[in-house]
Amino acid sequence: MTVTAEREKALLESVPTGLLIDGEWRDASSGKTFDVKDPATGKVIASLQDANSDDAMAAFEAAVAAQADWARTPAQERADILRRAYDLINERAEDFALLMTLEMGKPLAEARGEVVYGNGFLRWFSEEATRHYGRTMIMPDGKLRMQVHHKPVGPSLLITPWNFPLAMATRKVGPAVAAGCTMVLKAAKLTPLTTQLFAQVMLEAGLPKGVLNVVSGSSASAISGPILEDPRLRKVSFTGSTPVGVRLMQDAAKNVLRSSMELGGNAPLIVFEDADMDKAVDGAFAAKLRNMGEACTAANRFLVHESVAEEFTRRFVERLEALKPLRGTDPESTLGPIVDEGARDDIHALIEEAVAAGGEILTGGHKIEGDGYFYAPTALKVGKDNPILKKEIFGPVAPIVTFSTEEEAIQMANDTEYGLASYVFTEDNARMHRVTEQIDFGIVGYNVGVVSNPAAPFGGVKQSGLGREGGAEGIAEYTTVQYIGIEDPFAGR
Ligand code: NAP
Repeated sequence: MTVTAEREKALLESVPTGLLIDGEWRDASSGKTFDVKDPATGKVIASLQDANSDDAMAAFEAAVAAQADWARTPAQERADILRRAYDLINERAEDFALLMTLEMGKPLAEARGEVVYGNGFLRWFSEEATRHYGRTMIMPDGKLRMQVHHKPVGPSLLITPWNFPLAMATRKVGPAVAAGCTMVLKAAKLTPLTTQLFAQVMLEAGLPKGVLNVVSGSSASAISGPILEDPRLRKVSFTGSTPVGVRLMQDAAKNVLRSSMELGGNAPLIVFEDADMDKAVDGAFAAKLRNMGEACTAANRFLVHESVAEEFTRRFVERLEALKPLRGTDPESTLGPIVDEGARDDIHALIEEAVAAGGEILTGGHKIEGDGYFYAPTALKVGKDNPILKKEIFGPVAPIVTFSTEEEAIQMANDTEYGLASYVFTEDNARMHRVTEQIDFGIVGYNVGVVSNPAAPFGGVKQSGLGREGGAEGIAEYTTVQYIGIEDPFAGR
């Protein structure tokens, strides 16, 4: 059923537009606002209060003031709040899905999938909150008793990107709440609405004031800059591009901050000659087209054995050509728009560069005329030296390149400064182990195109970042280890 204009309007009007500071929605001190657009139409759908440095620091002061009490709040109470928020988001799942479609563009069916995935982090970390064990030990020399326990790292700055507006926030807020940290959360200016609604739900779930503060604004560095300068900040967690991550790490170095960096990717998807072609085409399609290709885990390079390249390419191109690029609220839509005009221009420029270097367009390769920022799903046949193989594309564009041997595939897969996700399609289990042990990626999908899961440690190596989100590892990013050396109870006897 098509979503009505009245339903969209009512939902947008229900989203808080202020800055969440110390448990209250406030106006920006400058009195300024900034606009949020629907990428499927290019029209403004909301205006939010525009935080400046003063607002950012007010939010940070609230986080600092709340930290001591929050750290002492029993883990079970923190877990209960997360679980209530999880239930509330489930009740409002359709609102969250529609809001993401309106501000980010993804088809409603995909947005519903993100609600399940993103909300899963709240459930997962509500369970992890009470299971973050320490350890005790009699030292090997018998002299000391050791007690090791985990403490919340302290006030944290969380910065999220626009591509998964709910999941990127819950993946950070969930473990920070579970661990007992207070925080300032800054969402991407293109998609702040989902974060606003999520913060409202956290308040409704009983999160004490000051624990979560949300400041969105038109200038990211005006918000993050002064907070990063303050020595009371103990942690920065960032998801976004590698250049911004590098800059934030440089800033974080001044106060020796704990840093988690989920950065860019350039995922290889390897199809061996013994792959099950149904699995390979399905997996490739999911790994490329999920979120219109605007995912750090998106397959970015299709490395296909020369003996199966023709069949794979024919079947993959057929799937691309069957896509329906329509506004995400249309029930027929299977491909949403690119997030904004600049991002669409960047994708087109990469294709022009690839063609100039000898790449051959098999389908697509152009902007779609009309409202919004749609781009035609594209496949390209390229040589091994094509520059597109070195770039993160962030759009529905698949460069396909052939290889002859397993060694060559491994060498090509590793030929990138990134190391986030990778995908391997083969029916030979021993080959899967040989290949995955030799490729330098934090995540491997074996015969599957989507592997993200709240219970799994998500993160990369090389310039894809530091640290892990989700899994048992996710909460450890927000805690620090304290070792207590206890006197030998038998000393002197
Ligand atoms: P981005 O430009 O780096 O922005 C990410 C966030 O950083 C936004 O909130 C942005 O704010 C903020 N930001 C930008 N410049 C900043 C600065 N100088 N100081 C402080 N904050 C700053 O990335 P994006 O275009 O939103 O997202 C796409 C990138 O994210 C891709 O490279 C993708 O691979 C990566 N990503 C990685 C993961 C992962 O888990 N590894 C997941 C998703 C996305 P404004 O929006 O307000 O400018």
